[in-house]
Amino acid sequence: MILAIETSCDDTCAAVVDRGGVIRANVISSQGIHDRYGGVVPEIAARHHLELVDVAVEDALAQAGAGLDDVDLVAVTQGPGLVGALLIGVSEAKALAAARGLPLAPVDHLQGHVAANFLAPDPFEPPFLCLIASGGHTLLARVEDHEGFAVLGATLDDAAGEAFDKGARMLGLGFPGGPALSRLAEGGDPRAVAFPTADGVAGLDFSFAGVKTALLYALRDDPHAERADLAASYEHAIVEQLAVRTERALRDTGLRRLAIGGGVAANRLLRARLAELGVDALHVPPPELCTDNAAMIASAARFVTPLRPEEYLGLDAYATGESAPARP
Ligand code: ATP
Ligand code: FE
Repeated sequence: MILAIETSCDDTCAAVVDRGGVIRANVISSQGIHDRYGGVVPEIAARHHLELVDVAVEDALAQAGAGLDDVDLVAVTQGPGLVGALLIGVSEAKALAAARGLPLAPVDHLQGHVAANFLAPDPFEPPFLCLIASGGHTLLARVEDHEGFAVLGATLDDAAGEAFDKGARMLGLGFPGGPALSRLAEGGDPRAVAFPTADGVAGLDFSFAGVKTALLYALRDDPHAERADLAASYEHAIVEQLAVRTERALRDTGLRRLAIGGGVAANRLLRARLAELGVDALHVPPPELCTDNAAMIASAARFVTPLRPEEYLGLDAYATGESAPARP
């Protein structure tokens, strides 16, 4: 069995997954503390990971009815993410693996989001187009095999999840804002305000800075505007932009299979809108596998060549914006 650890942002995650992609345990310990700051504070996230990671691993093993003797591979998110947060997971994984002489699989976080689609009981087989939309990333990826992906387009500024979070904050909702904004939008009119959908950005890239600023101005110009209408229009604009780019990518690549990943994939409007694109197959992992979790890291690890102890002792995490360092 594979024991996986994920600490790239503010969720302390540990999972036990078998080689067939069956999830035996998927523990997600969220750090509510960041709520009061309206966003994740990197130093605080790292400190909480340090306190929670041992317990998350113990809980995952207990829920799986397994011990460390049953584990033959340790997997960990190496990056990208908050480097202090990642470091806690990488150190924990190295220590656990080294103590038992086990191999270690370093996993790219985004490949993890793609690999959420490979898990049992409903694995989705490549080739497919994958839309990944999360708090830190928005991209369209061409997935030809289980090992990697090619980026076809990505955001030029903010991520879609960040736009949800910042929009929610402007509307006086809590953090993370995506689910709260989406709930508020249910009672509103998506046609009330025509928020920008970055039509000027050609090709398969995204831009969410404009829609954010437009909401700011709408609230400034009319502080008494109906909040549900603003939320519905704002959500509609974000979802439209994601859907239009996805449709373009399907046309450009000729791919007829579509998968989604990342926290924003939990959005109901987005799921419904993508279902209208008329692909041959649309794969949407359950919401708890769309947001950060360690089961997706274990899933990706099944297709990574693991490192031996003498190779991984010098393993480092890498931050957002950096690419994976060469393997030691
Ligand atoms: P990354 O994966 O890029 O490092 P992350 O860890 O913040 O970033 P995830 O956990 O994958 O990302 O996703 C969290 C994001 O998903 C948040 O921005 C949150 O607002 C958004 N999100 C979650 N549920 C929904 C929803 N129902 N509608 C819209 N957005 C949502
Ligand atoms: Fe993520």
